[in-house]
Amino acid sequence: MANSARPVVIGGNWKMYKTIEESVRFIQQLAPMVTAAKELVYLAVPFTAIHTAAETAKNTRIVIGAQNMHEAVEGAFTGEVSAPMLRDAGAKFVLLGHSERRHIYHESDALINKKIKLALQEKLKPVLCIGETLQQREQGNYRDVLSGQIKSGLEGIKKEHLHNLILTYEPVWAIGTNRPATPKIAQQAHEICRQCLQEIFGREIAERTAILYGGSVKTDNAAHLIQQPDIDGLLIGGASLGIGSFSEIIHETNKYILTQELNK
Ligand code: PEP
Repeated sequence: MANSARPVVIGGNWKMYKTIEESVRFIQQLAPMVTAAKELVYLAVPFTAIHTAAETAKNTRIVIGAQNMHEAVEGAFTGEVSAPMLRDAGAKFVLLGHSERRHIYHESDALINKKIKLALQEKLKPVLCIGETLQQREQGNYRDVLSGQIKSGLEGIKKEHLHNLILTYEPVWAIGTNRPATPKIAQQAHEICRQCLQEIFGREIAERTAILYGGSVKTDNAAHLIQQPDIDGLLIGGASLGIGSFSEIIHETNKYILTQELNK
């Protein structure tokens, strides 16, 4: 988080958890705790809760988003939800390419690329998630995997549209496993991602793009991760479901940001 030009984002991914009522209660409890937070607080809530969550979060520092969307604007796609529908419900961002979408629902880089283009077109901030599997890491080719996912995910996107993108490195082996990447391993991967952005889009975009880390972030490792120069925020699954753990992570990272500011 060395570069103050980049926003610091602490995001929660609620996956298939929380009813409307539970979402409202959470946001009402969290909002007063983050009024002075230096970070942007993002919550990717279930589709059913987006509208009420966005209404509840109005005039607070909490930004509501979705966890997925369809790649078409509209059409005969039973059971799907489009980008304009998400905007209409109050979503401001959308997670795309999460490893659970890639691995359980077999979403390809090409499909994710279509979704990213549409999200940008429909003024939804895409949060592109990438990450290698354990096997890919053990085989030592995670560098190629990460740059391949970035290149294909962002193919054909003009650099002037990228100011609205957030990238998230989430090693698959760290998601929901209680085996987080160490700050050093995460930093190395973030450096690879930033270099890749620089090769494709140039230095300015690379320096401006926030890259978040996700994968078993808890209260005891959040501050160490955020201290790495290329880690600009965190995407949190399990620990974002409890108000205590999520607010403590925000508090811990906020303390670090304040110390940084004082030392300037
Ligand atoms: C996630 O699913 O995006 C995630 C990071 O999960 P967890 O924090 O539970 O590993």
